[in-house]
Amino acid sequence: MANHYETLGVDQNATPDEIKKAYRRLARELHPDVNPSEDAAERFKSVTHAYDVLSDPQERQRYDLGGDQAGGMGGFGDIFETFFGAGFGGGSRGPRSRTERGEDAMIRVDVELADVIFGVQRDITVNTAVLCDTCNGSCCQPGTSPVTCDHCGGQGQVQRQVRSLFGNVVTAHPCGNCQGYGTVIEHPCIECGGKGRVRERRSMTIDVPSGIDTGTRMQMRGGGEVGPAGGPNGDLFIEFRVMHHDVFSRDGNDLLATAQVSMTDAILGAETEVSALDGNVQIEVPAGAQSGDVVTVRGRGIQGLHSTNRGDLKVALQVITPTKISTREKELVRQLAALRKDDPPTLGEFQQGFFGKIRDRFFRAG
Ligand SMILES: [Zn+2]
Ligand SMILES: [Zn+2]
Repeated sequence: MANHYETLGVDQNATPDEIKKAYRRLARELHPDVNPSEDAAERFKSVTHAYDVLSDPQERQRYDLGGDQAGGMGGFGDIFETFFGAGFGGGSRGPRSRTERGEDAMIRVDVELADVIFGVQRDITVNTAVLCDTCNGSCCQPGTSPVTCDHCGGQGQVQRQVRSLFGNVVTAHPCGNCQGYGTVIEHPCIECGGKGRVRERRSMTIDVPSGIDTGTRMQMRGGGEVGPAGGPNGDLFIEFRVMHHDVFSRDGNDLLATAQVSMTDAILGAETEVSALDGNVQIEVPAGAQSGDVVTVRGRGIQGLHSTNRGDLKVALQVITPTKISTREKELVRQLAALRKDDPPTLGEFQQGFFGKIRDRFFRAG
């Protein structure tokens, strides 16, 4: 049986490129579709097998050392793998790729509370890496391309044969000339410095979902940096911060506020319109309302995240005692007091102040 080099018609020191060319030429000539003869089919098989072995640097090395038969040199493969080393292509065969996945990016976006109710579209600008449009990620000046590294013959690694207790052991190291890529870029793209990507401020429109809160993160697949040499984009993470609002605060998807109610409205009850974050809203002050009473307006809170249900608007009432009154008003109030004959005040448990009381009632009001 002819050896693999003879089968392909190349010499022992042929480069991977020469081996590939020889195989292609023979394959075209002997392929069963083109050449139906029995003899051609047999030769096609041996040519393919020879190419399988010689095109793989590990297999070729093994073959050169006389170990063509699978497992014929028991344990050798393990040793080879050990020396091949993780971290250099992760033990993969052949040269490593210049192309890598891009980094993830993260930006923080401030959102007004009013925009959280229904969600909003926002234009954002990110400082990111984008594909170099001069070289389209090839890293080469237009019209040029990488050339096979003549130091490692395109393998990305150089192998050394070392005598050891186990016999001959082959060690492989990344090729210093091409950094393991197997090719050398002689004319790097000037625009991107041979990186295949450039930094750019990129604007995009994002959908801020309803119901987000400070710290909510959104992941946009492929929204991150383009990878080196035109590799796939990383992801973009958007972290939201909901801005403080002077009037409205938030409890989950409920909106909380207070409304000042006049003494007379508190006594008699009233229907009143107030301005909410999403337009005007009617609130009903019940007769006999007390400071701290909570009026709930169903469905006027925040629309939940990925939901169509809205929380409630909860308004705590603050009854205002008038401080400036006319002589006539004072006279009427005196008459009222005489009519009512209210009990004098008695002591009760200390309350932690108006706003503390409101907070308590908000949570009791459910
Ligand atoms: Zn470029
Ligand atoms: Zn090299």
